[in-house]
Amino acid sequence: MSQRVFSLTNEDETVALGRQLSALITPPLTLYLTGDLGAGKTTFSRGLIQSLGHQGAVKSPTYTLVEPYELPSMRVFHFDLYRLMDPEELEFMGIRDYFSDDCLCIVEWPDRGHGLLPEADVHLHIDYMEEGRTLRMDAITSKGKILIEQLK
Ligand code: ADP
Ligand code: MG
Repeated sequence: MSQRVFSLTNEDETVALGRQLSALITPPLTLYLTGDLGAGKTTFSRGLIQSLGHQGAVKSPTYTLVEPYELPSMRVFHFDLYRLMDPEELEFMGIRDYFSDDCLCIVEWPDRGHGLLPEADVHLHIDYMEEGRTLRMDAITSKGKILIEQLK
């Protein structure tokens, strides 16, 4: 199964899915998160990052492009490229160096990375529905495939 689809009735279910995924993650791993503003990308990331041991808020790192978290089991970099104007900014920050062996990288708005980002293991896309959201996961790598197959 290289695709999974989840129906998320409310915010709590989105957080819970992030939490469930977190339990299966071993670095290195890269997740791309797409969907409109307000779809729930940061909400999902919050479930995941808090479940990995971060105590405190998880905000979209809109002004800094990336928010780092040093967690007990791994380092996490949470990117939000929504406001990225110039791809040179990515070169300047040494974007590729973030995607290292001991890290989980979560990227909101990866399409704004202008092809400068490494490919993800899993693409997650959130759609608005009349009630709640639909979250689709597409595995890109074999590691991503194994990961999403383990989700309940
Ligand atoms: P994004 O990062 O995609 O721009 P956020 O996670 O910041 O979106 O915001 C999602 C908003 O939608 C939150 O205000 C949240 O309360 C609301 N919401 C309503 N239903 C859901 C759902 N099923 N999953 C996630 N968020 C939801
Ligand atoms: Mg966001």
